[in-house]
Amino acid sequence: MSGAGANYSLDTEVQFLKGVGPKTAMLLGKLGIKSVRDILWFFPRRYDDRSKLPQLLMLRAGEAQTVRGRLVDVSTRGTRGGKVLIRAILDDGTSQVGLVWFNQPWVARELQKVQGGEIVAFGMVKEGQGRSLEMTSPEWEVLDEDDEVGDFARITPVYPLTEGVPQWAVRKAAASAIEYFSRLLEDPLTDEILRANRLKPLSWCIKQMHQPDSPDTLDQARGRLVFEEFLYLQLVLQMRRNEVKQEVGISFPISQLEHLPPGASPSLFAAADGDHKGDLWTQVHAMLPFELTGAQKRVIGEIWQDMERPYPMNRLVQGDVGSGKTAVAASAILAAVKCGYQAAMMAPTEILAEQHYLNLVKLFDPLGITVNLMVGKQTAKQKRTAMEKAAGGEAQVNVGTHALISEGVKFHKLGLAVIDEQHRFGVVQRMALRQKGFGHPDVLVMTATPIPRTLTMSLYGDLDLSVIDELPPGRKPIKTHWKKPWDRDKVYATVRTLIQEGRQAYFVCPMISESDKMQTQAAEDLHYRLTHETYPDLRVGLLHGQMKPAEKEEVMEQFRRHDLDILVSTVVIEVGVDVPNATVMVIEDANRFGLAQLHQLRGRVGRGSHQSFCILVADATNPDSEKRLRILEETTNGFKIAEEDLKIRGPGDVVGTRQSGEIEFKLANLVDDGPVLETARQAAIGILDRDKNLSRPEHQMLLQKIREQRSYEALIVVS
Ligand code: ADP
Ligand code: MG
Repeated sequence: MSGAGANYSLDTEVQFLKGVGPKTAMLLGKLGIKSVRDILWFFPRRYDDRSKLPQLLMLRAGEAQTVRGRLVDVSTRGTRGGKVLIRAILDDGTSQVGLVWFNQPWVARELQKVQGGEIVAFGMVKEGQGRSLEMTSPEWEVLDEDDEVGDFARITPVYPLTEGVPQWAVRKAAASAIEYFSRLLEDPLTDEILRANRLKPLSWCIKQMHQPDSPDTLDQARGRLVFEEFLYLQLVLQMRRNEVKQEVGISFPISQLEHLPPGASPSLFAAADGDHKGDLWTQVHAMLPFELTGAQKRVIGEIWQDMERPYPMNRLVQGDVGSGKTAVAASAILAAVKCGYQAAMMAPTEILAEQHYLNLVKLFDPLGITVNLMVGKQTAKQKRTAMEKAAGGEAQVNVGTHALISEGVKFHKLGLAVIDEQHRFGVVQRMALRQKGFGHPDVLVMTATPIPRTLTMSLYGDLDLSVIDELPPGRKPIKTHWKKPWDRDKVYATVRTLIQEGRQAYFVCPMISESDKMQTQAAEDLHYRLTHETYPDLRVGLLHGQMKPAEKEEVMEQFRRHDLDILVSTVVIEVGVDVPNATVMVIEDANRFGLAQLHQLRGRVGRGSHQSFCILVADATNPDSEKRLRILEETTNGFKIAEEDLKIRGPGDVVGTRQSGEIEFKLANLVDDGPVLETARQAAIGILDRDKNLSRPEHQMLLQKIREQRSYEALIVVS
């Protein structure tokens, strides 16, 4: 340990490690490794298991294996291609194996030095000339005097590298760091936590990550580090959750709302609830054109209960496509407005915001409640008016995109924020809307596509959960069929038959690009083809994102009134459209859509009592898209689809966390490590039960670690 002295710490620069000089240190710098701490936490990409040492007689082609033997011959010759071929023969007394290198003269020099001596080598075994076995470019090492193969013939780390950095440089530095420094690693997890969760100490785990004794110990080590990652996140989320419960929120006096005029029947829903919210139930009932499902009633009840409580609501409503989240949100909004507060509803896209706006206007207008729209594409004047209405309190309900949280937007008395996020907002936006509130407003987050449980826990662990696990009655499961493009005529004929039976159809045009303009073009093309070639005798309408809200509404109204048989559309209809008589949807080039999106689209049919169909027209261009289409054929269960989506695409894509740069794990993987996440969550709850602010001395390192997690900054805005 040259030059270490008093500065002997994990912050010591790698160049002071034994066996690592300034030159290697520079190479390591390319990988972002500067200190001993960096290298200890620089984990292998994978491992080579070199631990098995078969006799050469037992060697088999097609497997990576370790061999040991005497170097009986080394030869060099030029090839016709102008390369230098190096060939060595290894003999262990039972048989021989050839070792081959191209263009590495220094290998030849090194080998010649040890000719006659023993070496070990590891590589992929292949059949060479004359059915002899050989290895190309194996890794190898000379055996030392005492014939120990221990360091070579083990599970060996393979590190992620970058140009110009050799594997051995990282291995050497890591080995040296572990030998001399791993004892300096302090474990942020207390003995109690380790024992309770059957985890190994940190220093042992770090060593196993770099130099595993066996696949088992490697699993244990990785498992502990994953647990630790999850634990920090869960501690943050649970602390956040506890904190919110201590804040002074709005206690909406829902139970004390005045009686409705006579004639309404307050008893209608009283049974579902049992307390004095009967009036509000009656008003909800009068407002909605249908009877609520049991699940909707239960969830509305949970929300209202939260709203009455003196601390802020922080609740997630999860429900599959078509489960009726809008009605639930509208009921929460009605409660807030009736209690004299404003409500806001934020959606991730303008189309969705507009749809919500139109839906809410329909519900609230008859009650004399003003609904206000705020989206980016409004003119300056429209924006100003909208902002005035929000700030003055004239607009009780405010619907919009993230325009709602832009600077300058103020509310008079915002008591409830509903976020319909479809995973596209992060915690940051949630907080931003919350901060516009009157004191600490109530927050309701709705997710349109169900997300797998592991993701719910990791991303929404600070929220209370309500699940709408029931679809409105009378719906038959949609039958989904995947057809190839050359079957299109048959598909079109089937659609015609259904239309002749009195039904209506959606045609979703291919997804060409993110650009609105190109999408519009695609929709117009398909519309033209269907109107002039396929169905000249039928009434075909067109809907796309570039139309004005009023135009869209006009077309939708025609379709709703059955003045149109077919509606050609872009993914605009992904949300908010509800025409029970439309029982067939044809999705062109379905392989271009994501699984969740197809599920969402398909949710537009199957809303009435007739059997509905979804026809996916696509050539499967790759195994992933084929898998997606098959899953859709097999199931209409949104949770199952979400799980599969997670497997195919990985969590980042599914929730868009990558884009929002929110939560990233070093080792943990939300697809495979679900059970560990659950354990970590329980552990976090247990720790905070005993020490709610992590103020005990033994928890100081934990607290420190949480503060260090840059990606959690957004979560720790308070405190
Ligand atoms: P989500 O947003 O959950 O996908 P929506 O709120 O858009 O679902 O509701 C889907 C459709 O089902 C809506 O158009 C609504 O009219 C209808 N709907 C919702 N709840 C009920 C119900 N209890 N009974 C009948 N229809 C309902
Ligand atoms: Mg919805």
